[in-house]
Amino acid sequence: MTCYGSQLVRVRYAPSPTGYPHVGNIRTALFNWLFARHCGGSFILRIEDTDVARRVEGATEDILDSLRWLGLDWDEGPAVGGNYGPYFQSQRAKVYRPIGQHLVREGYAYPCYCTPERLAQMRAEQVRSKQPPGYDRRCRNLSSKERAQFEAEGIPPVIRFKIPIEGQTRFYDLIRGEIVFDNKTLDDFVLLKSDGYPTYHLASVIDDHLMQITHVLRADEWLASTPRHILLYHALGWEPPQFAHLPIILGPDRAKLSKRHGTTSLIEYRERGYLPEAMVNFLALLGWSLDDKTEIISREELIHHFSLERLSKTAAIFNIDKLSWMNGVYIRQLDIDDLTQRAISFLEKGLPCQVDRPISQDYVHQIMPLIQERAKSLGEIPQLVDFFFVNELDYNTHLLLGKGMSRETATRALAAAQERLGMLDPFDPASVEALLRPLSQELGLKTGEFFGLLRVATTGRTAAPPLFHTMAVLGKERCQKRIKIALAKLHSNF
Ligand code: GLU
Repeated sequence: MTCYGSQLVRVRYAPSPTGYPHVGNIRTALFNWLFARHCGGSFILRIEDTDVARRVEGATEDILDSLRWLGLDWDEGPAVGGNYGPYFQSQRAKVYRPIGQHLVREGYAYPCYCTPERLAQMRAEQVRSKQPPGYDRRCRNLSSKERAQFEAEGIPPVIRFKIPIEGQTRFYDLIRGEIVFDNKTLDDFVLLKSDGYPTYHLASVIDDHLMQITHVLRADEWLASTPRHILLYHALGWEPPQFAHLPIILGPDRAKLSKRHGTTSLIEYRERGYLPEAMVNFLALLGWSLDDKTEIISREELIHHFSLERLSKTAAIFNIDKLSWMNGVYIRQLDIDDLTQRAISFLEKGLPCQVDRPISQDYVHQIMPLIQERAKSLGEIPQLVDFFFVNELDYNTHLLLGKGMSRETATRALAAAQERLGMLDPFDPASVEALLRPLSQELGLKTGEFFGLLRVATTGRTAAPPLFHTMAVLGKERCQKRIKIALAKLHSNF
């Protein structure tokens, strides 16, 4: 498949391992992956871990895990390698430093000796006098004597980029069109820190160039960085890639997405039992659409139809209710074997501890059709089905009497059911129904009353999956035992 001319598409996802992957970051990964797969290009994973102070232990593993869980495989990067590695920026220090120094020699950058104290003072002064923030360029025009003096004092400098004082920097954004920044709004940003580590700006530009990235698809929040990057590309004599800044994600109240709108950690969604298929579908619609109406789109269709043209300029709304609905749709589409496999680990974790482990797969396989319609997440399944597993049901005896049934009537009805069910063979849903419907008539009870009573006796609940199927799955022995206990409860003082 060709796309965007004859150019071989190479895109990257470049997360910083500073915490749990956020749904917003993963949406960026997904769009890059979809674009690469649509075009038959390459999806590269690069870990931007040069900010030592913000690095979080285990965060890289979480990122890799999240991508694997969603099925977003990468063609180059950690664990798979590739021709442009290493793919951890912390292992590329020797690439960045000489390029920073080259920029100094060529007059595009300069060493800055300002101490953190001086910078803090400068900032406070800017706030006081209501000036825009930014470095005041004190070191930009140091004489060689002044520079030598600072060097002699042993102050390790940072390297700053010299933003042109006048003029404008423009670039074309594939989503937003022509973007123009006045250079006077940009400050002389840092390229190399005093410890020799590059900043994000320098490392990202160098790596995008060396890794031959053709398109940079990243979140909106990076838009303000792009003019700096464009100036860097020009200073280095390199051709910039194409840029597309993805729309911001907001909550339904149009406020910036935060915990208030539901969890934003992708791993937590996995732990709560959201399916990766649903998550991919949901995330894909945060800023992209097929036709403004289609909601359920498979991975294959997404790959087939994905295009930069249908990325939206306007904010995407993260609506957790929509995600839950979508997850329900995907759960209903699973075949029972698959649902059983996926439910097992949630049951192992979520059923009360007195339930014997390991949980029987066959038994779960029988139960799943009864709740498939209702489950909105795998994490909900244990509480939907726990009564199938526990040895003793824990319910209030009053529930047996429903709306105004007398103790005697309930006892008579349960005793009759107990006796007849004992003789039933086979004990399947149709036979249970064929036995209980006429029995309710015989007892002079409305089916609703009678079945309600049996539902509480066999499940301990007033709302449960369809009664006859439920009883058949519980099996004759368990049903009889539970009815016997219900009869005993009716006899006791309550
Ligand atoms: N490391 C940056 C981040 O954490 C990458 C930004 C970019 O894609 O250029 O999001």
